Amino acid sequence: PLILGIESSCDETGVGIVRGTTLLANTVSSSMQEHVRFGGVIPEIASRAHLETIVPTLNEALETAEVSLEEIEAIAVTAGPGLAGALMVGVCAAKALSIATGKPLYAINHLVAHVGVALLDSSLGISAGEQLPERLGALLVSGGHTEILRVRSLTDNVELLGATIDDAAGEAFDKIARILGLNYPGGPAIDRLAKTGDRAAVKFPRALTAPKYLGSAEAPGPHRYDFSFSGLKTAVVRKVEQLEAAGEPVPTADIAASFQEAVLDVITAKAVLACQEQGLDTLLLGGGVAANSRLRELLAERTERAGIKLLVPAISLCTDNGAMVAALGSQLVAAGAAPSGIDFAPDSSLPVSTILLGQ
Ligand code: ATP
Ligand code: MG
Ligand code: FE
Repeated sequence: PLILGIESSCDETGVGIVRGTTLLANTVSSSMQEHVRFGGVIPEIASRAHLETIVPTLNEALETAEVSLEEIEAIAVTAGPGLAGALMVGVCAAKALSIATGKPLYAINHLVAHVGVALLDSSLGISAGEQLPERLGALLVSGGHTEILRVRSLTDNVELLGATIDDAAGEAFDKIARILGLNYPGGPAIDRLAKTGDRAAVKFPRALTAPKYLGSAEAPGPHRYDFSFSGLKTAVVRKVEQLEAAGEPVPTADIAASFQEAVLDVITAKAVLACQEQGLDTLLLGGGVAANSRLRELLAERTERAGIKLLVPAISLCTDNGAMVAALGSQLVAAGAAPSGIDFAPDSSLPVSTILLGQ
């Protein structure tokens, strides 16, 4: 089916168009630059940017795909999770389009769309049969999310295995970057700086890896597959303050590298552990932090050692975009799912198990 997808959960306004698993257009407009001076995404600014860019982004996607609105068979939109005001813009646009064109509307889960996007990347070798691997795990790491999922079926069975209990991984990168005097977004800046530093220079804490949280495979602790990054932030602040108080220079590259290693060591170890224990033989990486070079390296090493196949979609598909929404919409339409109608409200904390909002 020919599906149009709309994404507006955070700072990217995205409109994507797919035919089945074939990507026809993926137009993204980001308000990231407007958030730089605040060091993080400001919801009000993001919402206003969505309002300004949604129609031009839609028009550009239709032009790129060389299709008309009349040809589109269904519309999919991110209904959550995300920033409430930001979600509202995409949802209102999608409802308006649905009413104006008479096409069915599917209100879908942003996190599940991050998984479904893998079907669009033919280099991953899974689009042929239009099916994701059967025993699939997903690791989603972005500015707003850090989650390990089990994907039994993209259209009706996705389960949360673990998540951050405080900051998201990307958020931690952004906060530490600020402390080290680097610009937002902090992820790319730390990634770059860390290449010149020693990741063993400072031994920062690996949160939620103590036995009382981890437990064992037979008797899992309360946070076996969960993450926490707020304590790590405090540890970095304390380290910098100690050095400054002692009048010593702050080795920013070493601290960046050591911080990055502390985050990625835990993320990669727990993702692999979850796969091994839950019988998942394929791991899909998604979210903006997937761009991190050390994450890719470490995850490749550790999954290979564990005999797990690693799937990393093109980075333009990992960051927030409309094509992933269209891809999931397409799968739902193909599976015969009932559309959501237009009487739903966006849900900023939509659980990952709710793949599609019902009537
Ligand atoms: P959501 O959480 O809803 O997916 P988001 O806008 O917060 O939305 P993305 O746009 O997918 O997330 O990703 C942005 C985040 O990714 C930022 O926190 C940024 O610092 C981080 N990031 C980007 N590149 C890198 C990198 N090379 N290394 C580490 N983090 C990175
Ligand atoms: Mg973003
Ligand atoms: Fe996202």
